[in-house]
Amino acid sequence: MSFQNPVFIPGPTNMPEAVRLACHMPTIDHRSPTFGKILHPCLDGVRQVLKSNSAHIFIFPSTGTGGWETTLTNTLSKGDKVLAARNGMFSHRWIDMCQRHGLDVHIIETPWGQGLPADQYQDVLKADTNHEIKAVLATHNETATGVKSDIAAVRAALDAADHPALLFVDGVSSIASMDFRFDEWGVDVAVTGSQKGFMLPAGLAIVGFSDKAVAATETADLPRTFFDIRDMQKGYAANAFPYTPPVGLMNGLKTSLEMLLDEGIDNVIARHTRIATGVRLAVKAWGLDLCAASPDVYSDTVSAICTPDGFNATDIVTHADEVYGVAFGVGLGEVAGKVFRIGHLGSLTDVMMLSGLATAEMCMVDLGMGVKLGSGVAAAQEYYRTNPATK
Ligand SMILES: *Cc1c(COP(=O)(O)O)cnc(C)c1O
Repeated sequence: MSFQNPVFIPGPTNMPEAVRLACHMPTIDHRSPTFGKILHPCLDGVRQVLKSNSAHIFIFPSTGTGGWETTLTNTLSKGDKVLAARNGMFSHRWIDMCQRHGLDVHIIETPWGQGLPADQYQDVLKADTNHEIKAVLATHNETATGVKSDIAAVRAALDAADHPALLFVDGVSSIASMDFRFDEWGVDVAVTGSQKGFMLPAGLAIVGFSDKAVAATETADLPRTFFDIRDMQKGYAANAFPYTPPVGLMNGLKTSLEMLLDEGIDNVIARHTRIATGVRLAVKAWGLDLCAASPDVYSDTVSAICTPDGFNATDIVTHADEVYGVAFGVGLGEVAGKVFRIGHLGSLTDVMMLSGLATAEMCMVDLGMGVKLGSGVAAAQEYYRTNPATK
């Protein structure tokens, strides 16, 4: 087995050497000013990545899923109504979590491959004249289908209905890679994790709360202990966690944030758009379609690529692993076997991406899919060549 090849899964993503080294550190006292020198730059850096001036940032030893739970349990009470659209595996899992917590979910069923229907959100919110809906859930980037949604439009739906519900956004596969505007979009809670845009191993849930979301903790009665942001807040004031923090991972996060902010978050976003555009041109040259229904919803962090009828897309992923030692993503849920996914987020260059496209081509040719060797690579090369990276 070779660990030399990059991965092309939509998380965990490739780790830059500097981030790996930063995670690898001696033990320090995690209740000391020395820990504060790791903690506070992390909180400040995440706030900048979210494009927020005032968001309250919390970092838990967990994953994105724990970030969902942090969001729900700190702000809502048993039986509360929430509004969500289901357009893929991740929005589905978040809805499932709501239901298991005893929340009453109004679900807008949306075809997989489409974005969140802001117009339908608006209709439901307008009809809710008693303001029984306490929160609106929005998955910014559906990692299962490679579909991004318009969060500004969901905010506009809330505003048009003059509705006070909180806006919760799953940005696990978009934050630190795609445009995300916490303040401008009026987001109340943003959720992410360490292993996607932040280029770290899994292990951290990273959330940003608005003042309004923090205030909701006073009345929310869903049970919470490990994920109580009030305990975290008290801890942070003393350079500590309410329990033992994963210091090495947080030191890695500090380095990752330095790299992202040094590159410039808008440059990071532009790099992801450039690399994704090359991937999409390759897919087109292969004669294949994306699961994402239209260009306005194309994700810049993951492409879910449909294979022809009668062809099991998972075979490509298995073959790439077994023969070439390269990882692509399998289809999940409704699109299992129908799509394979190329993750193109995190620490990635044109050159790395071209190697992934070349590998996908070899697999498709090996498996008799009728794709011409070099066709997708050439399309991406031509784009990268004529739109060179600025940095
Ligand atoms: C990866 C992902 C999650 C789940 O995160 P975990 O870290 O695996 O718990 C949630 N939502 C989206 C959109 C994701 O891509």
